[in-house]
Amino acid sequence: MDILFVASECAPFVKTGGLADVIGAVPKSLAVAGARVRVLIPSYPGLQDLASDGTTVARFDDLFGGQAEIKAASAEGLELLLLVAPHHFSRAGNIYLGADGQDWPDNHLRFAALSYAGAEIAKNGVDAWKPDVVNVHDWQAGLLPAYLAQSSKTAPPVVMTIHNISFQGLFDASQLKNLKLKREMFTTDRVEYYGRISFLKAGIALSDRITTVSPSYACELLTPEFGMGLHGLLQARRKDLSGILNGIDLDVWNPETDPHLAKTYSVRSLKRREANKREIETTFGLRRSDGPLFCVISRLTSQKGLDLLLDCLPGLVAERANLALLGSGTSELEQKFLAASKQNPDQIGVIIGYDEPVSHLLQGGSDALLIPSRFEPCGLTQLYGLRYGTLPVVARTGGLADTVIDANEAAIAANCATGFQFAPINATMLGQAIARACAAYRQPGMWSGMMRRAMRHPVGWNASSAAYLRIYAGLAAGRDQD
Ligand code: ADP
Repeated sequence: MDILFVASECAPFVKTGGLADVIGAVPKSLAVAGARVRVLIPSYPGLQDLASDGTTVARFDDLFGGQAEIKAASAEGLELLLLVAPHHFSRAGNIYLGADGQDWPDNHLRFAALSYAGAEIAKNGVDAWKPDVVNVHDWQAGLLPAYLAQSSKTAPPVVMTIHNISFQGLFDASQLKNLKLKREMFTTDRVEYYGRISFLKAGIALSDRITTVSPSYACELLTPEFGMGLHGLLQARRKDLSGILNGIDLDVWNPETDPHLAKTYSVRSLKRREANKREIETTFGLRRSDGPLFCVISRLTSQKGLDLLLDCLPGLVAERANLALLGSGTSELEQKFLAASKQNPDQIGVIIGYDEPVSHLLQGGSDALLIPSRFEPCGLTQLYGLRYGTLPVVARTGGLADTVIDANEAAIAANCATGFQFAPINATMLGQAIARACAAYRQPGMWSGMMRRAMRHPVGWNASSAAYLRIYAGLAAGRDQD
């Protein structure tokens, strides 16, 4: 089975969130199951050296405003197809945003270029390789099946994976021609969305199958509350929609070998975590406490519900707990957390920014991880938390509901709890969940039992990559019979 992935991020090369982690991990797991995955991503500045050493496998004289080529290269166990298009991707800073914090004004052309290049590979192959199936990820790759649909050439089936439906790639209808889309594509069953062009809608409407990243989110997407305007289309395509839980890269996120920890540890040597906790206290300027150390590793946006946490800080402080927060996002939230830390520097430490090593350290030394998201397609940080024994305190939504077993009376009696869930999603219930976690922490036997159970909870990719393979194989077999 030969599979082409098309995405805008891939860890460890370029990452703004969980999408990158998934794109960096699934191909390795699929390879173990005998599939070959090649990943098409833009060649951003950080990938330039890799691209220079790569082999040119395709050229474009004019890819939405400039020359471009695709370079094949291998690194970190991944087979990459790097889209070298300097006019679109050789820019410093965030891959989606300019220095002003706004979307790059030509994002539609940049990611149309990615989708178009992917469609060309799907139709024509590269270096004598042709995919059996194409898997496009999120809106940035959403136009790929539209380019296939308007071409007369036969092409492999396409799977669209929705990692987060709140990012839809919406652009003005006047861009249709600039996006190389034919007039007939601008209909409600194709790319048109309330008078505009939606890359994500195109992907959902025109792909053969649709997946999303947890079973609960797959159900939620069918509702007006979570489907964000696309629930009707998804309901119509319900039989083609599956929820497949994300996993994590067990080599990269392994407390026994993690180079970012002051001390590595295993389920049999939990005491060694103390050194990591001390390191966190030093890094965040916190005073040692007999209460639990909570952490947050997150984008600071309204999705993540961290405004609710602001309301709970007095309660957390009164419990003699500490908080270490690593995140970046809206300046309002950044400022409010910085102010909270200034007011209570011994117990609340805040680092604004994106820091991969510190994110690992927080997982390796905190007691609990707070994730009060208003919606969460899957969420990866709680999976890292489970693996590292940092018990997740999560809103009961999407993938968070699917992966954390709440420490309610029944789960405690049955010895199966791995964290704390709360619902409805508001500050009162988050405050109660924090209080429950603090109470559990004061029962060391119970807490360490939960830690051990969490660390043994399966969070790898095996089961989920097998589910993806079944979908790919079904599509490829169907196409063979056509
Ligand atoms: P999302 O993709 O919605 O941001 P996920 O939980 O799926 O949320 O994935 C977030 C990923 O980004 C995780 O790997 C997490 O560790 C990482 N991350 C988020 N914020 C930061 C940060 N400020 N510094 C380092 N890593 C971060």
